[in-house]
Amino acid sequence: MLFIEFSRCCERLEGIAGRLEIIDIISKELPSLTDEELPIFVRFIMGRIFPDWCQAKLGIGPNLLYEAIGYLAGVKKEVVLETINKTGDVGHAVEELLATKTQTTFFREQVDLVRVYRGLVGIASQEGKKSQREKSLVVRQLLGNASPLEGRYLARIMLEELRIGVGEGSVREAIVKAFNVDSGLVEHATQALNDLGEVARLSKIEPNTLKEVQITIFHPVRMMLAQQGTIGDMITDHGKIAAEFKYDGSRFQFHKKGEWCRMYSRRLEEVSAALPDVIEQLRGATDHDVIIDGEVIAIKNDRPMPFQSVLKRFRRKHDIAEAQEAISLVPNAFDLLYLDGKTLIGLPFSERRKLLGSTLKFFVAPQVVSDDVKVIEQTYQAALDAGHEGLMLKVLSSVYSPGQRGKNWIKIKPEVDTLDVAVIGAEWGEGKRAHLFGSFLVACQSEDKLIPLSRVATGFSDEQLAEVYDILKESIISHMGKEVTFEPKLVFEVGYSEIQISPTYEGGFALRFPRFVRVRDDKGITDVETLEGIRDRYQRQSKSRQQTPSQN
Ligand code: AMP
Repeated sequence: MLFIEFSRCCERLEGIAGRLEIIDIISKELPSLTDEELPIFVRFIMGRIFPDWCQAKLGIGPNLLYEAIGYLAGVKKEVVLETINKTGDVGHAVEELLATKTQTTFFREQVDLVRVYRGLVGIASQEGKKSQREKSLVVRQLLGNASPLEGRYLARIMLEELRIGVGEGSVREAIVKAFNVDSGLVEHATQALNDLGEVARLSKIEPNTLKEVQITIFHPVRMMLAQQGTIGDMITDHGKIAAEFKYDGSRFQFHKKGEWCRMYSRRLEEVSAALPDVIEQLRGATDHDVIIDGEVIAIKNDRPMPFQSVLKRFRRKHDIAEAQEAISLVPNAFDLLYLDGKTLIGLPFSERRKLLGSTLKFFVAPQVVSDDVKVIEQTYQAALDAGHEGLMLKVLSSVYSPGQRGKNWIKIKPEVDTLDVAVIGAEWGEGKRAHLFGSFLVACQSEDKLIPLSRVATGFSDEQLAEVYDILKESIISHMGKEVTFEPKLVFEVGYSEIQISPTYEGGFALRFPRFVRVRDDKGITDVETLEGIRDRYQRQSKSRQQTPSQN
């Protein structure tokens, strides 16, 4: 497939909003692609380049891209920024600039999808001091060969945000439709492989193998997530449930094959180098090949330390030994996803737990199983007394659902009024904060989009504002007066007093008294709260108000 054909397909998709139509268009494209093109197309159309399990990163910041565009269009970077401001989008700006480019290209090669992909792989493989220059050269080369329309989508792919409204769900359904395969099998293979591109390839060439797809060791799978709920509802719905402490640390996924071990963070980034002590602890606790899900916490005098201490260790790139002495980490294992070549995610939780207990000699998180509200409440109190965040309640018969925030895991915390939201914009501060951002526009997820939910301007210390500025300055996409918009990368945990119905934002809700709690750099944009979750909270909040006895 030529990249111009791919671009035309994107243009068509960008112009439509109906999910069924999107699925239909994609499903018609898939069968005509070669086996090599198919996975690339599938990832590109979702604005991704590499499989989700893969550690490769393009590492092109907006600045590098703007400079390359400026060079090709023969204009200064400021002009590129102005064009982005005017059009409100990097893709449209590149298209406009390439259309007016002064430096005439006598010979433009038609490039195809595979060639673009190889170019991007080349960019990702550049490391070290000179890498930015090398990356810039390849970016110029790729964009230099692009027509204006190709430029629109190439630039967006390079920033890994295609903005054509195609989400993973639609692509999965398109695969089912295109190759007439069972949607349950496609879901299973997607969960195990964590690469929809490969799932598409298998659906085309070996659909019979989808059923047997196993998790591959050192290819991390997405983490199962939790919803909020109550002890009473869980027991009413399920009878006997499992209760575990909710540890306030960082999620990990530990992979071990023979003596080889690797550790991944909640965002599936490899963090082995930063956590040699945790790896050693887990390596010593089993002789099996395993994938273990758990939470690592920092301990001092037998009490858990604040979550920030753990994050410091996860982020650490240098002086690891010193950091280990200052902050000692302990893993708490609560699930087993893979054991000696077998994928366990389809087994009931009670069976996975049993296997975990017989596989791992230490570090298994204790569990209480009961259908008595009092017993679970006592466990909750014990968790809080021991300095943990709260309780996790789990349905004993439930499978492990990677990446899903379902009702099979329920979190119980004393403070339920915080949300994880994506930072999508900001306004410059005033007075002594004029060189920093002062307030932030935050968003939740709705289907495949991010929609604004609130502005957050309180709760920040000066240090936090400076830290947040440092993180966000690289992600600015456009300026409009005092307002800037960001490529969504950063997640804030935000506290609030109430969720209100509001006409201000598209989602119909707004937060009352929003305040910044902390940066959640252990979370990615796909982890932020959904509109559905907010509606749920709103309804629960109204219900509990009705139940509160009146004051008079
Ligand atoms: P939250 O981050 O508030 O959505 O809560 C869910 C998170 O709690 C998970 O992603 C884990 O990082 C963490 N957690 C702590 N203890 C447990 C546990 N026993 N089981 C599952 N998740 C846990």
